[in-house]
Amino acid sequence: MKDRTTWSNWAGNQMCAPVAVRRPTSEAELVRLVVDAANAGQRVKCVGAGHSFTPIACTDGVMVDLSGYDRVLGHDPEARTVTVEAGISLSKLSEELDQRGLALENMGDIAYQSIAGATATATHGTGWHFGNLSSRIVGMRLIAGDGSVVECRADDNADVLAAARVGIGALGVVSTVTIQAVPAFRLHAIEEPIRVDEVLADFDGFMSSADHVEFFWVPHTAWALTKRNRRTDEPAAPRPKVKRLLDDVILPNVAFGALCRIGRRKPDWIPRMAKILPSTGRVEYTDRSDRVFTSPRLVRFYEMEYAIPREAIPEALGRVRRLVDEAGIQLSFPVEVRVVAPDDIPLSTASGRASGYIAVHVYKGTPYDAYFQGVERIMDAYGGRPHWGKMHFQRAETLAQRYPRWDEFQAVRRRLDPEGRFTNQYLERVLGPVTT
Ligand SMILES: Cc1cc2nc3c(=O)[nH]c(=O)nc-3n(C[C@H](O)[C@H](O)[C@H](O)COP(=O)(O)OP(=O)(O)OC[C@H]3O[C@@H](n4cnc5c(N)ncnc54)[C@H](O)[C@@H]3O)c2cc1C
Repeated sequence: MKDRTTWSNWAGNQMCAPVAVRRPTSEAELVRLVVDAANAGQRVKCVGAGHSFTPIACTDGVMVDLSGYDRVLGHDPEARTVTVEAGISLSKLSEELDQRGLALENMGDIAYQSIAGATATATHGTGWHFGNLSSRIVGMRLIAGDGSVVECRADDNADVLAAARVGIGALGVVSTVTIQAVPAFRLHAIEEPIRVDEVLADFDGFMSSADHVEFFWVPHTAWALTKRNRRTDEPAAPRPKVKRLLDDVILPNVAFGALCRIGRRKPDWIPRMAKILPSTGRVEYTDRSDRVFTSPRLVRFYEMEYAIPREAIPEALGRVRRLVDEAGIQLSFPVEVRVVAPDDIPLSTASGRASGYIAVHVYKGTPYDAYFQGVERIMDAYGGRPHWGKMHFQRAETLAQRYPRWDEFQAVRRRLDPEGRFTNQYLERVLGPVTT
């Protein structure tokens, strides 16, 4: 948050000028600010950590910064659930869970996001048998457009819970979230470069060869940087601090950032520089789950990510590789590939289908239109669903048919926010007006 009138996201590619920024610390304040905004005819938009690349959190109305609304409110040791205020960051949540002998079942690459922000866009990690973060939500409290508090669980307002787990900020202010956690666990990680054709020759076998598998194809090379994390009871064998600093901070951030800056000025050098990336060698260690799942990301970039049917990934990635080669696109950022189990959430990118994800990135300030639009056309052929928090060029008309439960979401939206109190330009584009 820069100041009271100008806000920009982490990547710096989205800006807005809210009429006011509020920083509530209680649910009563949240209710009051929604009622006040309704009386003043203003719109309301919550912001988490601003880690979305789309203008999903932008508003010219009242912006609600929930970073001070971040406590753990309850813990049911038997059910292994915790109830938290919506602004808690995933890193703080992981610490709080660990103190209770618990952990999040699966996580993405970073832990800066707030729980409400991360789940609003169906943030995910990777895992053949594991769903996204939203699929672990078992209860929520939301403030609807008229200021009423709506509580939802599997046995109470089940349709609201189903939709609000991936609410893309359209259904109301999320006040609290109840998460299904799992007993704390460690991950044994193997990170190593492998030839990408070898990975793709048995994609299913490779991606299911450990609990959480992902890889990054390095453009202009035949290599994939692979990560395989296996859940284990073995004692922790973390990398020494200096090695961790080198692997997680210096190489992927400081050194890689320098390569990206050179590449932005001298794109012709990128293919030669890319050959350095697969020379990182093999790393193996065992550590607390969140410390293995997530790491610092200091190099700023723009990203687009698509979910397609899992079985289509090898063919689709082949087409992305040909696009890069044939269009002569110079890329310093690898292309990330992950898998996620299906879920039953209307607007989850994994709704009703086992999904594979292809994510493309460019260094901040690099033109991306030709690359991202080219990749999007490929993903369109597979009924691709864009990550709600990452860049894409879709509209409600192109998205509705890709989500079989689209109408269920719109019905809940009409009920909770009939006046469009929580909408913004992005939501008008991807969901249409509330009356749709
Ligand atoms: C470096 C980096 C790495 C990333 N890695 C991954 C990854 O591994 N996997 C992945 O899937 N995604 C990843 N993302 C994307 C990111 O997880 C999502 O964009 C996520 O939504 C950002 O969370 P946030 O807290 O910053 O929310 P914001 O971007 O601030 O907001 C996202 C949405 O949530 C809404 N929202 C926030 N709080 C509330 C609330 N209390 N009530 C109602 N609505 C609310 C906002 O209005 C907005 O609509 C990454 C992004 C970056 C920048």
